[in-house]
Amino acid sequence: MYKTHTCGELRAEHIGQTVTLAGWVNARRDHGGLIFLDLRDRWGMTQIVTNPELSPQAHENASHVRNEFVLKVTGLVRARLPGKENPKLATGQIELEAQSLEVLNPSKVPPFLINEDQPIDENVRLKYRYLDLRHERMRRNLELRYQVVKFIRDYLHQQRFIEIETPILFKTTPEGARDYLVPSRVHPGEFYALPQSPQQLKQLLMVAGMERYFQIARCFRDEDQRGDRQPEFTQLDLEMSFVTREDIMSLIEGMFTSMVEKLVPEKRLLAKPWPRFKYQEAVQRFGKDNPDIRFGLELKDITDLAPQTGFKVFADTVARGGHVRGLNAKGLGGYTRKQIDELTEFAKAFGAKGLAYIAVEPNGQHRSTFSKFLPAEVLAELLSRLEAEPGDLLLFVADQPAIVFETLGRLRVEIADRLKLRDDSVLAFCWVIDFPYVNWSETDKRWDPSHHLFTAPMEEDEALLDTDPGRARGQQYDLVLNNYEVGGGSIRIHRRELQEKVFKLIGLEPEVARERFGHMLEAFEYGVPPHGGIAPGIDRLTMILAGEQNIREVMAFPKNQQAMDVMAGAPSPAEPQQLEELHIRVVADDKAATEKSAPEKSAA
Ligand code: ASP
Repeated sequence: MYKTHTCGELRAEHIGQTVTLAGWVNARRDHGGLIFLDLRDRWGMTQIVTNPELSPQAHENASHVRNEFVLKVTGLVRARLPGKENPKLATGQIELEAQSLEVLNPSKVPPFLINEDQPIDENVRLKYRYLDLRHERMRRNLELRYQVVKFIRDYLHQQRFIEIETPILFKTTPEGARDYLVPSRVHPGEFYALPQSPQQLKQLLMVAGMERYFQIARCFRDEDQRGDRQPEFTQLDLEMSFVTREDIMSLIEGMFTSMVEKLVPEKRLLAKPWPRFKYQEAVQRFGKDNPDIRFGLELKDITDLAPQTGFKVFADTVARGGHVRGLNAKGLGGYTRKQIDELTEFAKAFGAKGLAYIAVEPNGQHRSTFSKFLPAEVLAELLSRLEAEPGDLLLFVADQPAIVFETLGRLRVEIADRLKLRDDSVLAFCWVIDFPYVNWSETDKRWDPSHHLFTAPMEEDEALLDTDPGRARGQQYDLVLNNYEVGGGSIRIHRRELQEKVFKLIGLEPEVARERFGHMLEAFEYGVPPHGGIAPGIDRLTMILAGEQNIREVMAFPKNQQAMDVMAGAPSPAEPQQLEELHIRVVADDKAATEKSAPEKSAA
């Protein structure tokens, strides 16, 4: 070993020992003949001192080192001079008086500071990810991620689960996104699909009698990038046989509750047991099915009052089957016209045509977009329904329900941010259940599964699939944490006839269904246990536990917002010979392809 101790390990009790440390130079300070170096490794930092009188060679070497040089230093652990201790550093009581100092490798000046956490252009961070990961925050994030995964493995092991790997080269397993395809060399014109999740495989493992399966599984979904999306991401994929949804929910609730109590004890769980909301209730109260329940500001329905407000926009919307709903932006009654205009622009970005408001001035007077013909008793009812007090700002959206909920749901979170109501130290888990089984797609003129096509309908709603599918509910449950859907799962269909009926309902032609999922239908003829599962996202969960704003911060080598790896330069054009072997001719987007030159052959 190059070192006897880590850079985070030495304490007062080591004083007098001769030790060897190795690591990176975090900072160097020259002080009246002495040189001080902070030597950093994964475990911490130790101050090194070189003294020209005591060891001229070490001092001479130290005078040439710069930040990020890699060193090996042997020396004597000694107490820092009185008053020079650093209480912020775990090793702050001591320093290492260098007897020998060897440069194992020099370093160029890095493109950004490593010893400070300053804002840096993200593409630069990603290009030099190996340097970015030297930042203490990133190291802590990756360590937390590892702890999360380790906790899961230990916990599920105790619960008699078995971890099983499933293939990456597989067949389409749709979760609502596009597939990544991999061309086959040996089967010209044929492709594997990377799994969007191991959904089918875990169900087949239940058919195989495994009963309790999990996997820390990589999933691949080709969809547009957003803050919390990546082309490949990691799920805790889990499936159990002979269970109801209560069994899965209580397993997950128990596991995550003990996990956060152990791994992030400084955070507070908002509620134990976790609250549960029916889908309809979540949408009506919070505007969305992945609500942030750390604060109030709930939506209120005033559709019934709208025609009496004398406001034509409201009345017309309701006449066309729309809704009028509002929320009370507590304490923002003093907002200026300009600030309200900003909120209106925000609302318009989500489809609303405008934002109506009543500002209740601290003196009880009102400013409003629609108070002109508003009868006093209707105003009084509005104020009471929104629990308005002097100083409040009431915001209303009138539109088709989907737009009303989307806009107010977003506005609710925006207002909470402005009011600083979203406390990062609070973890508000909740369950959302009783989702509609299918949703009507106006564009495709067909029913789409609201979860995925293997989810079972509620038993008592099965008959509705024939008569009124829009009213059927699914046996789906979503795990929600602080405004994010962290995972979803369901009890599955385990009867072939029902699975075939669902394929038909969602418009999968029988031949297509057989071609894509024939293996599932066939398996369903060999004794399938009732089963169900869930798949919480490891990236999102760790992101929230780490207090980060996007999942890239908890992934070692993520893609950027354009789905590119800017460090290695992927994706990149393939060699003509590779394409030929794969029976592929690139025709589209010639311009984009030729602008990037083919990768250089490695010299090795
Ligand atoms: N496969 C589902 C998903 O990835 C989760 C599940 O139903 O277990 O969302």
